[in-house]
Amino acid sequence: MTPLEQIELPAAFRAAVCIMRLTLEANITQEGGWAEAEICAPPPAGSAPEFQDTVTGTIVLTNSGVGLRAEGRLQTQVTLPCSRCTKEHVVPLDIQVSEECTLQDIDQPQTYQETEADDNLTPILNGNEIDLSELVRQLLNLHLPSRSLCKPDCAGLCPNCGQDLNEGSCHCPAEE
Ligand SMILES: [Zn+2]
Ligand SMILES: [Zn+2]
Repeated sequence: MTPLEQIELPAAFRAAVCIMRLTLEANITQEGGWAEAEICAPPPAGSAPEFQDTVTGTIVLTNSGVGLRAEGRLQTQVTLPCSRCTKEHVVPLDIQVSEECTLQDIDQPQTYQETEADDNLTPILNGNEIDLSELVRQLLNLHLPSRSLCKPDCAGLCPNCGQDLNEGSCHCPAEE
């Protein structure tokens, strides 16, 4: 883990659009330093394959003195199977981000792996860049809905023959 004193965040740095990385230019290590990233990028490598759409949004990283605070918003679309009938359908995601993070140095893979197992959110520090793709990947997976219906009144599948009851009833007896 990178000691906080070594984190160099610019006081006010607005990153270019369409990036997943922040370049740290200013030598400001003080508490309260912050950086803003506007994100418009494909889902990061390693995120669940069902994320198809571009990830957009804004994340502000703030040096809180004890860690990094990530705040902002991420939007994308995800393809999920219906919890009742298993039909794949597209669900828009609008994620409010407000998380404490631990900045990880890319040169310390062991620490990084331990941290990931602990479910901590980790922007990756690589030289003078912060790689946000790992943080975004974790945020997307964290906020993936565990249940989703293709439509609110989805009739589901017949538990007996598997017929999709949205497409019509089957001929199974009503009772088991
Ligand atoms: Zn359904
Ligand atoms: Zn049936």
